[in-house]
Amino acid sequence: MTQLADWLHREIAANGPMAVSDYMTHCLLHEVHGYYTSTPVFGAEGDFITAPEISQLFGEMLAAFHTHLHQLYGAPSDCLTFEAGAGRGTLAKDMRTAYRAIAPLLHQAPCYLLEASPQFQQRQKAALAPDRPVFITALSELPAKPLFGVANEFFDALGVNQAIYHQGKWHERLIDSQEGQFAFTIGPLLQDGHQMRLPPAAEEGDIIEHSPVGDAIMTQLSTHIAYHGGGVLIIDYGKPDNQGDSLQAVKDHKPADILSYQGAADITHWVDFTRLKDIADDCGARLIGPVAQGRFLQDIGIGSRAEALRDPNNPEGDRALLAAIDRLVSPAQMGQAFKVALLVPDGDGMPPGFASLESTSD
Ligand code: SAH
Repeated sequence: MTQLADWLHREIAANGPMAVSDYMTHCLLHEVHGYYTSTPVFGAEGDFITAPEISQLFGEMLAAFHTHLHQLYGAPSDCLTFEAGAGRGTLAKDMRTAYRAIAPLLHQAPCYLLEASPQFQQRQKAALAPDRPVFITALSELPAKPLFGVANEFFDALGVNQAIYHQGKWHERLIDSQEGQFAFTIGPLLQDGHQMRLPPAAEEGDIIEHSPVGDAIMTQLSTHIAYHGGGVLIIDYGKPDNQGDSLQAVKDHKPADILSYQGAADITHWVDFTRLKDIADDCGARLIGPVAQGRFLQDIGIGSRAEALRDPNNPEGDRALLAAIDRLVSPAQMGQAFKVALLVPDGDGMPPGFASLESTSD
């Protein structure tokens, strides 16, 4: 049993069954034993790999997108660059390197990072040393300026609560500790009007998810963008609703039981993009998309950028480059399950990367 499991058993013994979002947050961010605060391992040699760790082309393409957006908004010189949950700092570093070549004003802008884990803050500080990043733990700390930001695999790591349909009514789903084992249990009845948006009817055992932290962060981000301008790319594996049990744990690149390996495996959920869109609307901002990551990257030119990087004298390098692009773009890999959405101030028009939405009802 991990030390965190031991701690969680004691917490539950003292306070009763635990909300799923609290369990998830303790597993990821417990100040001593959390997965992101102790020895988080991701990258090829770790438990899972994210898009920026696959190829620096990912960051370059997102930086090119920011550059376009920055020009579209009149190229403000007094603005901020931003990343939420920057992990090892790879994406922020690749983007800052690209800005230096293509967008001097974005390169000069201060680099703000929202990061809850002190361990990751250290890594980001080292990766971005020349950019002197400014760390914040709440979005209210952002200066009132246009913000050009990205959140890649960030919202999926924010705790979700679950409701379960049982005997004709919605109940909160909780995590209990029984004889040294963790188990899901059916908690108190959820009343109508609960922020979870419960469908009136369902089948026994159906599950609905909702992230209170996700709501709070999206509200602050949308309000900032609505008032001060800019744009934030939100990239995550996602779905168009809050239905179903989407919690997943990953260890050593393989799915793992979420009630085991506390603090030693990553736990995430599938992001409900409709909820994010509704919050943006409520705050006077606009969430464009989502579109599939593969489609987005192709529409903003990853193919031609890769062609330009090919080197006839380095066939092995070319093969690695094409394999990396295939991982990012191919529907069988990250191209379809991962979605890209863009948070901007309210308005019309469809930026590059999202043109495919014009042929749909969005
Ligand atoms: N974006 C990175 C890493 C994703 S892992 C990549 O693509 O490689 C999720 C990141 O979000 C980690 O850095 C984690 O510490 C951070 N994080 C999780 N919950 C957070 C919260 N509530 N506030 C701020 N950062 C958080």
